[in-house]
Amino acid sequence: MNNKEIPYKIYLEEKEMPASWYNVRADMKNKPAPLLNPATLQPMTAGDLEAVFCAELVRQELDDSTPYIEIPREILDFYKMYRPSPLVRAYCLEKKLDTPAKIYYKFEGNNTSGSHKLNSAIAQAYYAKQQGLKGVTTETGAGQWGTALSMACSYFDLDCKVFMVKVSYEQKPFRREVMRTYGASVTPSPSETTQVGRQILAEHPGTSGSLGCAISEAVEAATGTEGYRYVLGSVLNQVLLHQSVIGLEAKAALDKYGIVPDMIIGCAGGGSNLGGLISPFMGEKLRGERDYRIIAVEPASCPSFTRGRFAYDYCDTGRVCPLSKMYTLGSGFIPSANHAGGLRYHGMSSTLSQLYADGLMEARSVEQTAVFAAAEQFARVEGILPAPESAHAIRVAIDEAMKCKETGEEKTIVFGLTGTGYFDMVAYEKYNNGEMSDYIPTDAELEAGFAGLPKVEK
Ligand SMILES: *Cc1c(COP(=O)(O)O)cnc(C)c1O
Repeated sequence: MNNKEIPYKIYLEEKEMPASWYNVRADMKNKPAPLLNPATLQPMTAGDLEAVFCAELVRQELDDSTPYIEIPREILDFYKMYRPSPLVRAYCLEKKLDTPAKIYYKFEGNNTSGSHKLNSAIAQAYYAKQQGLKGVTTETGAGQWGTALSMACSYFDLDCKVFMVKVSYEQKPFRREVMRTYGASVTPSPSETTQVGRQILAEHPGTSGSLGCAISEAVEAATGTEGYRYVLGSVLNQVLLHQSVIGLEAKAALDKYGIVPDMIIGCAGGGSNLGGLISPFMGEKLRGERDYRIIAVEPASCPSFTRGRFAYDYCDTGRVCPLSKMYTLGSGFIPSANHAGGLRYHGMSSTLSQLYADGLMEARSVEQTAVFAAAEQFARVEGILPAPESAHAIRVAIDEAMKCKETGEEKTIVFGLTGTGYFDMVAYEKYNNGEMSDYIPTDAELEAGFAGLPKVEK
């Protein structure tokens, strides 16, 4: 098709939006390994999980066989306020790079929370409301998930308790205030409000907190309060399911103009945006209908896919959550202090981990100065100020487009632009001042993380 016939932005009509989420597990021959109970090492039953999570979300978590799950009307109505999101042809970037490659990005930053996380937050809040719960608890690090969840909870009139890693609570006051504006209560973690928080404070007075500790506090607050459940913004199968709306829309937009991508690129923290973006394409691949290159991009300072072990591990540092079989650096792994670009989770979605182990997708790690260079290059020609997380995907999209320039191949690249970076200007400042450095953990450092893996004979 002639370039000129393809608009800068491909928007679907409201009626073309997907009416169901797609569950890629249904088409996987090798299913992701089950979550294990940390006490018994037996697979978690629905009953075990329902003490912590909403019942309908547990059903989705454990459903490996239903390919399409209808999106409830109330969730679709909310989606319509900010979806369909555009699939944008990066004509200006292509021109700047002087590449024959065709580059498209699916932009998920066009809502106040600034990222794709709202797609799952609204679903999780809806099912909590349906169950008649009073509220939900969660943890947040940088704050994107907490922001998305607070928006979703205010929409359904649910209470929202966010445990925010103390160092972020103090250093990112604006995200905290966005959450409070939407009615969430935000507690710096570790706190005096939970037993685990008090214990950690007693052992490590003055600690600035960690994601793992905040998870443990949020789980305790949910299980210890009548009418509350815990919710999580990435990693879990249910979150990938909700995020499939990204890929379904992207595929519908491409199909509308007869465009077939050669490669699909996304950043990977816990794997939810990437899992969502690739779902329908991976489905075609799994069913043998079509082939694509699929590339996960992660930070070189937190390289779970490229240097991690495929093993059962704890999902949190506090070791209160179920064990998941995934590519992991060990639940005690913490990226070096200079790490600024997000994507700092030690593990990875078990679904993506299985697909990667089966050779159905590739992974690449990139260093953060190269990531911020790509972010600025992109911002200057395409206008959008990307989240540092998203810029990992931009980096590899640009690298692949430059390879096309060398070979003269007109490949079609689609990447996920998961969000905007307005709240990440301290990291941009470091980069602009030339104060950002790279760090690649040594094998010995990674070995220390692997030494903490639980012994599971599976
Ligand atoms: C949270 C986040 C990510 C990483 O999370 P995944 O679950 O791997 O998608 C990526 N980009 C943005 C903007 C985020 O907020």
